[in-house]
Amino acid sequence: AADSTMFYAKSIGRNNVQFYSDVVHLRAASREQVALQARLSNAIEHDKLEVYFQPIINAQTGQVTEVEALTRWHDGQTGWINPQVFIPIAERLGLIRELGEQVMKQAFGVLQQWRRLGLHQRMAINVSRAQLFSPEFSSRLQTLLISHGLKPQDIEIEITESVALTDYSQQMVHLKALSQAGFKIAIDDFGTGYSSLSQLHEMPVDILKIDNSFTSRLHTEEGRRIVLAIVQMAQALCLEIVVEGVEKSTTASFLQGLGVKKLQGHYFSPPISASECYTLLVNGVSVSS
Ligand code: C2E
Ligand code: MG
Ligand code: MG
Ligand code: MG
Repeated sequence: AADSTMFYAKSIGRNNVQFYSDVVHLRAASREQVALQARLSNAIEHDKLEVYFQPIINAQTGQVTEVEALTRWHDGQTGWINPQVFIPIAERLGLIRELGEQVMKQAFGVLQQWRRLGLHQRMAINVSRAQLFSPEFSSRLQTLLISHGLKPQDIEIEITESVALTDYSQQMVHLKALSQAGFKIAIDDFGTGYSSLSQLHEMPVDILKIDNSFTSRLHTEEGRRIVLAIVQMAQALCLEIVVEGVEKSTTASFLQGLGVKKLQGHYFSPPISASECYTLLVNGVSVSS
């Protein structure tokens, strides 16, 4: 194949050297991709992913209301890989259900362990579209809950807003069933998708999580106006609001001033391991102001 590429490169003349080197780079990149995919597939199969936890804080009381489970992958070859990279790969490879299963097992195991230590904690988990739409998802979820001594009321299901629009009616069926079973439903990364007011009103949604990208623009007048508009809309629809990506005390107090009760971000705590999170839950979150 390399020979025929070279031949082709030669035959097209002038830019052949550039062309040839592009092809070589592309091939190297796709070889690297394939190798990465194989390592991810192996990591999922052998349960090598780790679940970290980030607290969501009631800004008025300082109490942790939920912890969000966020998956981490340490790849032996390249180190920590961002979920924004490996989650889409797992989705493309058809491995997201298996990944989701591992995440639920680990996360529920942690909740169960905390309970044995006398700590009752609600948890939010991220669920991707392929997972939500798979026919066995709901029953697997419930089976795993029961085997860990947990109830739907202990769990929030986060789905990203981009998901919220596509296959709207199919999604409604799944979300309604989960909501009726007692799970709370959160729309994640709210503001980055295209949900309409009427869809939001019809959907069995309890919580809007305002995306990091809005939080990071709160230093501008326009950014503040957009967040205010989203908050007012959520309040009008009687939806709870969580603002993600809170990094500074000024951001936290501005949002509290708007009536936002739940905040999440590095200002309070980054995602941390189960044992670090246990310590934090027992000792309470202290923020330096
Ligand atoms: P997400 O659910 O919207 O999670 C919030 C992301 O913001 C997390 O990124 C978190 O580490 C990050 N974050 C938290 N506080 C701050 C802050 O103060 N500033 C900034 N700039 N960022 C902050 P992470 O952990 O890299 O996860 C990225 C995304 O990957 C998640 O976004 C979620 O959509 C997806 N994801 C993670 N774990 C899972 C999983 O188990 N299943 C599925 N389906 N998706 C997952
Ligand atoms: Mg989330
Ligand atoms: Mg988000
Ligand atoms: Mg996100």
